[in-house]
Amino acid sequence: MTVAEAFASTPPTIYFKRELNGQEQTSLAALLQLIGPINLADEPDTVSWALTSSGKFTVNSLYRKLCRGTAQLAIAGLWIARLPLKIKLFMWQLFRDKLPTSLNVAKRNGPTTGPCVLCRAPDANHVFFNRPLARFAWRAVRTATGVQWDP
Ligand SMILES: [Zn+2]
Repeated sequence: MTVAEAFASTPPTIYFKRELNGQEQTSLAALLQLIGPINLADEPDTVSWALTSSGKFTVNSLYRKLCRGTAQLAIAGLWIARLPLKIKLFMWQLFRDKLPTSLNVAKRNGPTTGPCVLCRAPDANHVFFNRPLARFAWRAVRTATGVQWDP
């Protein structure tokens, strides 16, 4: 079956190995709406890598895309900063909310009760930005460096 044949019917004939949860169904619906206007040719499907001009996959092109795609303003210069790699990795995980905090462990069905055990805060990064000690530390950094950046 080609992609054009799968999308010829409404809804499209797409099968998954397992049942999709609610968020996955929402994402699938958004994806189908996004690719709906694309005109598919009635010819054999081919696989092409869009990140290279040759259409062939390279790890280098994927790495560059991932670095560009995830660059947020706060972490744009992180990888070129003169910091130890373990600090860079920690900061990258912090800004992407991927640290193994109680909430993130709970998302992976780990051994935890969920929200912060100290203050029941729903977000994982509050320890680094919203707690009084963190606010004081950031204020000290601002005073010491003379910048006005307030995370
Ligand atoms: Zn807390």
